[in-house]
Amino acid sequence: MTHLLHRAIHAKLPVAVRGEGIRLFDAEGRAYIDASGGAAVSCLGHAHPDVLAALHAQLDRIAYAHTGFFTTEAAERLADRLVADAPDGLDHVYLVSGGSEAVEAALKMARQYFVEKGEPQRRHIIARRQSYHGNTLGALAAGGNEWRRAQFRPLLVETHHIDPCFAYRLQQAGESDTDYAARAAGQLEAKILELGADQVIAFVAETVVGATAGAVPPVADYLKRVRAICDKYGVLLILDEVMCGMGRTGTLHACEQDGVVPDLMTIAKGLGGGYQPVGAVLLSSAIFQAFSEGSGFFQHGHTYMGHPMAAAAGLAVQEVIRRDGLLENVVSMGDYLERCLVERLGNHHHVGDIRGRGLFRAVELVADRATKSPFDPGLKLNARIKKEAMARGLMVYPMGGTIDGQRGDHVLLAPPFILNREDVGQIVERLGDAVDAAIASLTK
Ligand code: PLP
Repeated sequence: MTHLLHRAIHAKLPVAVRGEGIRLFDAEGRAYIDASGGAAVSCLGHAHPDVLAALHAQLDRIAYAHTGFFTTEAAERLADRLVADAPDGLDHVYLVSGGSEAVEAALKMARQYFVEKGEPQRRHIIARRQSYHGNTLGALAAGGNEWRRAQFRPLLVETHHIDPCFAYRLQQAGESDTDYAARAAGQLEAKILELGADQVIAFVAETVVGATAGAVPPVADYLKRVRAICDKYGVLLILDEVMCGMGRTGTLHACEQDGVVPDLMTIAKGLGGGYQPVGAVLLSSAIFQAFSEGSGFFQHGHTYMGHPMAAAAGLAVQEVIRRDGLLENVVSMGDYLERCLVERLGNHHHVGDIRGRGLFRAVELVADRATKSPFDPGLKLNARIKKEAMARGLMVYPMGGTIDGQRGDHVLLAPPFILNREDVGQIVERLGDAVDAAIASLTK
């Protein structure tokens, strides 16, 4: 009997005892290819010697110093690194312990910014359906899946949701990308006007939607239009790159590919690659200035923010990615992964879409390719695919998004940046077999 409460109370999970490169090993000696990086976390794979060495060295120097009394070299160096690599204009960093904390901090920064500027009437956050921003109350309120929120609704701040930019599901037949981008972004403008332009704090969106919809990149121009609308009404743009950021899509920040710089950006997961819990908010000089010229502080804080071990992990992971030119591998292996997925699953009766950027790819399963109708959620196709994949020594991230109020099924792949062509071949072969077996099991 376990005394540990995970999410599913009765889940029987294998015991992970060791990791090496792109593989994890359980107590029975079985190996699993980590094709999802856990949840898009393990960007360098497991037990990377340089990261381990940096962590040991940091532990020997200092493991913890409270930020109310001290700064540390590790935290300062990580902040310098992140700002040096950030899009122009994002020049300050707030270090936290994970993605939800980063989103909470970003939402509070956005609100405090307007209080400092003498606009305390601004109180609305706009976000998108089919998005995920974390499980703490503020982040959960921003997230766009009602099934996650429903039972906690009385505890949540009211947030307003518009449609995501989701070409496979929402672009109309014959509609050009340009027209679709304008229509999708137009929803933001309409919502701002409905709420009152001087009442809105921020629009928050994942640059590339992760777990809830499966690696959905925006169509060209969408985010540029969103940026222009935010500027027009003085609304802040928060891009949540907790999952899609830190190199996962082939550029350090996914929004670089969209030519857009947000006012606030949240990062986590790949920042520390799972070696330590670490996240951050990157903020614009305008926001920093409002705090420094106003009350002189950001009214927030966590005991473990700027933790030296977490900062050392982030720094080491980011230095290895740069030193080894791993973003190039993300681009080339990402292209190869897409080609292999299309070859193996592109004509599959129940594969509706294969999409993504870099090493952030997803396969969406549908009951009917022509109508794009999802499988009955009661069939739990996601769980079946996960089980079949694990039986074949493969970790994938199967999730259900919400499609017109129904749960859909997709498989998210976010493997470590260090993988090679042979690894990609094995992942796709095992995934293809797992999908076939899971679908066959529906009729048994
Ligand atoms: N934002 C996004 C886009 C995420 O994908 C996640 C986690 O999956 C979070 C925020 C929350 O991060 P965490 O689970 O580290 O709190």
